[in-house]
Amino acid sequence: MARIFCVANQKGGVGKTTTTVNLAAGLAKVGQRVLLVDLDPQGNATMGSNLDKRDLDPSVYDVLLEECGVKEARRTAEKCGYDVLGANRELAGAEVELVTQDRREKRLKLALAKVKNDYDFILIDCPPALSLLTLNGLCAAHGVIVPMQCEYFALEGLTDLVNTIRQVHANLNPQLKIIGLLRVMFDPRITLQQQVSDQLKDHFGDKVFNTVIPRNVRLAEAPSYGLPGVVFDPSAKGSKAFVEFAQEMVDRLKQPA
Ligand code: ADP
Ligand code: MG
Repeated sequence: MARIFCVANQKGGVGKTTTTVNLAAGLAKVGQRVLLVDLDPQGNATMGSNLDKRDLDPSVYDVLLEECGVKEARRTAEKCGYDVLGANRELAGAEVELVTQDRREKRLKLALAKVKNDYDFILIDCPPALSLLTLNGLCAAHGVIVPMQCEYFALEGLTDLVNTIRQVHANLNPQLKIIGLLRVMFDPRITLQQQVSDQLKDHFGDKVFNTVIPRNVRLAEAPSYGLPGVVFDPSAKGSKAFVEFAQEMVDRLKQPA
């Protein structure tokens, strides 16, 4: 049965999509069956998985509105080795359309229940906001992976996310927890980054993943070829780090919680 993880951080540009597509590709590489769910109307994870967001019909939008199931809406990203439930701009409308509907924050959870035996991992790429879409991700998930840059305000930005996760845990999804914080775009030559990384470990201990994702230009170039870095250039430092991270996730799940 699939383990379901949200990749979330309410800040934009922190590496959520890069983490989601590369972790998906890394998990596929180590033999896991993966579904990636794009919950961001920008559709970056969809495009970054070699699928054209303009010809998705149906998409995750139709699934959230219960117009179809995941089985009809998912696509296989053949070059990447995983399946995708894709998104495009249409998804922005779901936010408004769902407001008046029943079970509005549980739509994704209910839809994924029907495919959970098809996968080992389901990874959800969240939009940069603590919105109803993100809430659907958090309600569906067993845990949250938080990518973060080791910058001065990093810890402060975490407070809102941690509070939201607490509230979801208390009111909507008792199984939800933070699986870990992933240091991304890391540059060890920058003293401040090293200091913030140390602070993170002091504060959060085991919740900080061992793997560190370096700043690496190949990871930034890959989306313009419509591929995760792990597929575009497997030999790049950043790609190797993501495969290592995938293995760390697999190993972590073998340990008792
Ligand atoms: P988010 O989904 O949180 O908005 P993205 O994953 O789209 O963030 O990343 C923001 C930008 O940073 C993108 O241009 C991406 O290519 C780049 N980027 C992400 N991770 C790395 C990395 N490890 N090294 C270099 N560039 C990166
Ligand atoms: Mg994104």
